[in-house]
Amino acid sequence: MKIKISLNESSSDFAKEVEERSGIKVRECYQCGKCTAGCPVAYEMDYMPNQIIRFVQIGAKREALTSRTIWLCASCITCTTRCPKEVKIAELMDVLREMSLEEGLANPLEKNITTFHKSFLNSIKKHGRISELWMLNEYKMKRPKTALQDLVVAPQLISKGKLSFLPHDIKGKDVIKRIFEKCE
Ligand code: SF4
Ligand code: SF4
Repeated sequence: MKIKISLNESSSDFAKEVEERSGIKVRECYQCGKCTAGCPVAYEMDYMPNQIIRFVQIGAKREALTSRTIWLCASCITCTTRCPKEVKIAELMDVLREMSLEEGLANPLEKNITTFHKSFLNSIKKHGRISELWMLNEYKMKRPKTALQDLVVAPQLISKGKLSFLPHDIKGKDVIKRIFEKCE
């Protein structure tokens, strides 16, 4: 498949920025494809994990940050463990997700995932941990079409104590809040 790539004068800065923010040396990747061969979600992705790395290497910022792949990645770390060059691809996907949101480039086809991602982080920021019911409440308010999706399993989860009505804050939640503030 041929891919049309748009490069401009800021392209060369992209790889540098990704490397600085992630601490990962993307230049080390020699495109062997072992990461892609082991990825359990590759069949759903628009670009393969090794192609995302290549985009970063050549400064194809828009292609990397608008890809569906960075949102479909399940962070299972299979790619990271398979990589002979120790490129931490799963962590790299995480950095690309944040950059994609910051630049307003997140793929609109993955709106459910990006909304869930934000609700997940908001819950951690507020309570220091996931508060499932509150996180889901925020997510479903923003994505009302998904409101009825999990209703069938809700009673079962509540009866088994898996969904608490009240959020449980951790002791050091102020520390977590400060970490978020520092990152932001
Ligand atoms: S396994 Fe590592 S070296 Fe091979 S393509 Fe993937 S990131 Fe690059
Ligand atoms: S971490 Fe993401 S890219 Fe890597 S193998 Fe798992 S799903 Fe695929």
